[in-house]
Amino acid sequence: MTKQVYKFGGSSLSSAKRYHAVANICHHLKGGDAVVVSAAGKTTDTLVRLWSCYHNQDHKGVGEVIALLKDHQCALIAELLGDKSEVYAHFIDDINAISQRAGCAELEQAWLLAHGELWSARLLAHYLNKIEVAACHFDSRDLFIVAQNNLKHEENTARCQVLKNDQLNVVTGFIASDENGSTVTLGRNGSDYSATLLGKYLNADSVTIWTDTQGVYSTDPRKVEKAVKYNKISQQQAQLLARLGNPVLHAKTLTPLKDSDIKLVVRSSYDSHSDGTKVVANEQAKAKRFLTTLASSDVFQLTNSNKESIRELSILLQHPLQPLEVDGNTLLLVPSQFGEQVAAFYQEHAVLIESNVSGVAIVSEPGSEPQLLKSAKQLLEKQSMTLRGAWSQDGFAILLGDQLLESDTLSLLHDELISAKQELAVIVAGIGNVGEVFLSQLNSQLERLNTLLPVKLVGLLRSTSSLLNGQGIALSSASEQFNEHAKTTTSEQLIEFIKELDYGHKVIIDITASEQFSLLYPEFALHDCHIISANKYAGTAELDWYENLRRLQTEKGLLWRYNTSVGAGLPINFALKDLQNSGDKITKISGVFSGTLSWLGAHYSLDKKFSELVEQARELGFTEPDPREDLSGRDVQRKLLILARELGLSLNLDDIELSAWMPTELANGTWQDALTKRDLLDKFVEELALEAEKNGKTLRYVAELDTTTKPVIAKVGLKAVSPNAAVATLTPGDNIFVINSVWYENNALIIQGPGAGREVTAAGVHSDLYWLCHKLSE
Ligand code: ASP
Ligand code: MG
Repeated sequence: MTKQVYKFGGSSLSSAKRYHAVANICHHLKGGDAVVVSAAGKTTDTLVRLWSCYHNQDHKGVGEVIALLKDHQCALIAELLGDKSEVYAHFIDDINAISQRAGCAELEQAWLLAHGELWSARLLAHYLNKIEVAACHFDSRDLFIVAQNNLKHEENTARCQVLKNDQLNVVTGFIASDENGSTVTLGRNGSDYSATLLGKYLNADSVTIWTDTQGVYSTDPRKVEKAVKYNKISQQQAQLLARLGNPVLHAKTLTPLKDSDIKLVVRSSYDSHSDGTKVVANEQAKAKRFLTTLASSDVFQLTNSNKESIRELSILLQHPLQPLEVDGNTLLLVPSQFGEQVAAFYQEHAVLIESNVSGVAIVSEPGSEPQLLKSAKQLLEKQSMTLRGAWSQDGFAILLGDQLLESDTLSLLHDELISAKQELAVIVAGIGNVGEVFLSQLNSQLERLNTLLPVKLVGLLRSTSSLLNGQGIALSSASEQFNEHAKTTTSEQLIEFIKELDYGHKVIIDITASEQFSLLYPEFALHDCHIISANKYAGTAELDWYENLRRLQTEKGLLWRYNTSVGAGLPINFALKDLQNSGDKITKISGVFSGTLSWLGAHYSLDKKFSELVEQARELGFTEPDPREDLSGRDVQRKLLILARELGLSLNLDDIELSAWMPTELANGTWQDALTKRDLLDKFVEELALEAEKNGKTLRYVAELDTTTKPVIAKVGLKAVSPNAAVATLTPGDNIFVINSVWYENNALIIQGPGAGREVTAAGVHSDLYWLCHKLSE
């Protein structure tokens, strides 16, 4: 049976509200799974303060800190369980026992510190029971035994069999026992380590560390706005980062997972819908780039070192260490607070060569370290930073100077060394017709795109089958590869593929006309995928759905372009955006938005039968296979809605008045059935045309939006217009967009040209892709 271990840190348990969120997340677990908890909020820090007051015989201080602990815990318990609960009484007993021991000089440090975790475990288990989730709590001092600094894995595995299979097992993090039953701790921040150890003892499938960041980032996201969250990183890079002092994952946390299949995931308990970062076996993730700052450090040159001595020192300091091999010498970089201990440990075998220096470590893919070091050096020198040391070796480079890197310098480094390196994975859906041309143009376009950002094609989709390859699909043989290797793929498989894609950016290019496919857009967004669509359905979907999608995309910083869904390659969406961004206010948009209806309008005259003209257009391939899809006006209605929403109007499709270019009697059955009633169609059009002619006018199928009235006027249908009007003098088949705004009030801005066709539509999609690459590379 697969088992999961969840671990919640102090910030995830700091208030009753956070406990509610944790309990919600625990609903994903089942009986037999385990939840490891840290002390709530800053409880361990407070207990450490209590210990130092006690140690310094500061009785007043002891009293004050005890009062603080009481306030915090009592408020938590009262809010979650009420102050009559058993947990409340138990807590008061504990506090009394602590006071009493402090009073008669019998307080033990580890025993004292253990209480933070004990209180959390008890409270969470009882709270889960209260909301009807079966749970029990365990004191990990009964499960984890340490002898001479080593955990007794075999014995501990056996002890962990007491965990219950039909309930959630809430287990204290951070604490263990020695062979005499005395409390020991696993070091500050040791609960993550407890969780991975428990994962190993239970042979769990995965361990999830729920914390207050969304995962592992390229650098500290609080300092660098453009820090990128990685979906996957390798165990090896995670270890290296930890040894270099990166605080997200501790080196010890990763050790139990070595040579195991247990997945480690870092996620945010504040945003439980977000996927977080997976730490996976080395071959399952590409090497990423990271910047991690190094605060006040000392550098020692070791004259007589070996790996074993560094390991021993690391255990002694309870701190991971990463030696540097430079020109046959071993350098050791340690936080300055450990300087004296290191000197004492190595005695005459270590020479202090720098003290109290700060800087940055760059972790990268192998091979690029010297180049990165060079670029970083130049950049830091330009920022007038005096460098005291700069070295690179396998997997990382280090630069040290006198001051800690401020966030602006770190951002500059990040822009140059990391943002520049974000690859874009491209999936193209719909590879017939326009898609085919798009792909052939992509080949020549790649060089230009690659100057902005490396772009890789990773997926090709048709309605029934697809070719998906995370490593990349060679463009030169894309269609051959598709024909040979494409497989039937369900939506779930597609989503899974997107989720697992190990790239800085991803985009789906939807050139299908499938409403079904458009329904997957929110899933794409959930998995951090940008969207480019020629497909009109999502842009015209129900307002709630559409606004939710937009919201999700905004929250996640995702971009969505659909320039070609209106006017194919014509830059209509660009023009509207640009006018609005420059402070103009658009008042009216009208025009002919359909190539088919434009052609029919231009060619129809009273001496012709309309149905014959339609048949001719159909044979020339100017209409949809069933021409009623054009004649219904639905397509034009959708286009007008897209433009209206572009102006910020909250309209639905039904808010746009629609009259078709055919009588309702033709709506049912097949096109062939409809043709049996062609006389009705001809008569319908002839009557309207006669009426128009009487007034010296001609018929055109137009869309109109007027935002100056309340409610706005939005309608689509046949209109009698003057033969000199811009909409009437169009080249047959062209589209026209007539835009009035405050600046273009009397003399409209007109965009006119081919509004359909494979080449121009594919080129319009390329324009969106170029725009996206440009945005992402900024
Ligand atoms: N509560 C302990 C600490 O603050 C352990 C942990 O949070 O992981 O160090
Ligand atoms: Mg903590």
